[in-house]
Amino acid sequence: MDYTDLYIDGSWRTTRERFDVINPATEAVLASVASADTNHADAALDAAEAAMAEWAARTPRARSEVLRRAFELMTARLEDFARLITLENGKARADAMGEAAYAAEFFRWFAEEAVRADGLITHAPASGARIIVQHKPAGLAVLITPWNYPAAMGTRKIAPALAAGCGMIIKPASETPLTMLALMPLLEEAGVPKGLVNVLPSKRTGALVDHMLHDPRVRVVSFTGSTAVGRRLLKSAADQVLKPAMELGGNAPCIVFEDADLDIAVEGTMLAKMRNLGEACTAANRIYVHADVAPEFTRRLTARMAALKVGDGTDPGVDVGPLVNADTRDKVAAFVADAVAKGARVECGGEVPAGKGFYYPPTVLSNVPENADCVHDEIFGPVAAIQTFHDQEDAIRRANATEYGLVAYVFSGDFKRALQVCERLEYGMVGLNRGLVSDPAAPFGGTRQSGLGREGGHEGMLEFMETQYISASW
Ligand code: NAP
Repeated sequence: MDYTDLYIDGSWRTTRERFDVINPATEAVLASVASADTNHADAALDAAEAAMAEWAARTPRARSEVLRRAFELMTARLEDFARLITLENGKARADAMGEAAYAAEFFRWFAEEAVRADGLITHAPASGARIIVQHKPAGLAVLITPWNYPAAMGTRKIAPALAAGCGMIIKPASETPLTMLALMPLLEEAGVPKGLVNVLPSKRTGALVDHMLHDPRVRVVSFTGSTAVGRRLLKSAADQVLKPAMELGGNAPCIVFEDADLDIAVEGTMLAKMRNLGEACTAANRIYVHADVAPEFTRRLTARMAALKVGDGTDPGVDVGPLVNADTRDKVAAFVADAVAKGARVECGGEVPAGKGFYYPPTVLSNVPENADCVHDEIFGPVAAIQTFHDQEDAIRRANATEYGLVAYVFSGDFKRALQVCERLEYGMVGLNRGLVSDPAAPFGGTRQSGLGREGGHEGMLEFMETQYISASW
């Protein structure tokens, strides 16, 4: 591996303390990566502060053109990034190519947004003063990313932070730090000034992040990961009243009504469940199917799931790679065992294969009881858990019965009914007759305990900006 050290102030720094990154397909060590401590964090913050002064003063167009070059460079190297993503995360090549392209798109989208930080000038209705509203870069940002999308969860934060004019420190997931490190030479080539973007892999994550969140130069903490860690970070961010952006866990319901086009519903459910082999916060976790169509839907979904080829994700013929680590695989297996013990039926899959690699086969469970653990917790693996319902009110009530609120999916041929249902779902995003909602041009994010703030869309850049209002007379 070419890049395994810390990236601070545009140069690579080695450390005595290091940790291993494992290839989930073979369980072999892929690389030994440098581990940052709080001294490295201070050096990175110094570099980001110095670089930000000049970057924030550049014209929006100048920032936009750097982002555009980053998009073009990454698009020309999708194969290289996809290969690295597969090696450290395990996902199949097609999923990795999809992620690399999605990751690059954030540079294009925010190249376009960088020049659109619109303000406002208007008359105060009563006083006669002018109200001038403008947006300014918020300050240094700490970006913390998960392992399930090693590239895209980073670029979804880096691109808007650059567009806004901020300097940043990235703490990638310890499972998958290599992709983020490999992105740094590309950003340099695109024209990102040295010091503006720093990457600190670390095995001392809690202490490192806590230290940075208490540095007075930091103003934004943008986190994607579990709700449990998100809660902890919010507490830590409270001490300096940081601007938080939290993309947390999900428990997505997928409702298939009796009037749905079953071809579309099965295709959409496959995508919502199996994109990234189920290791996605957006993964369909609870599949509610109307009893009239449940047998046919289950038959078709099972046929599709059973036909997927499992293996090392670097093999182009493979659809489903290994899960990221043994814990994730064991957790998925435990969810299946629990559901089966409580009365669920295994339609396909359900057995951990022997041999090396953290594999779990595509699995369909029908008749999943309401008290199964997988109904209340993220499965984060290739297991489709099907339940049935008889009436719309019951489906809506059960879909909303969770503390999460990231995304829901609805399949129905009656658009009026479908929109009425969408509006009653307490989720930040809804896929209507679609199994994919992620789009750089749309505001991605959740309600309730799935998070705070939005990434992508017009909102994404505002997460890294402060609004200033000037009350003026002239
Ligand atoms: P995680 O355990 O919360 O870890 C995410 C990141 O937080 C990693 O970089 C991790 O570093 C770091 N971290 C762990 N403990 C920390 C602490 N005490 N202080 C500061 N940082 C800490 O989540 P994960 O297992 O990587 O990812 C899966 C979760 O992410 C799922 O719940 C999924 O739903 C969620 N997710 C949400 C979205 C979304 O957009 N809403 C997208 C993707 C994933 P280490 O690796 O060093 O521990």
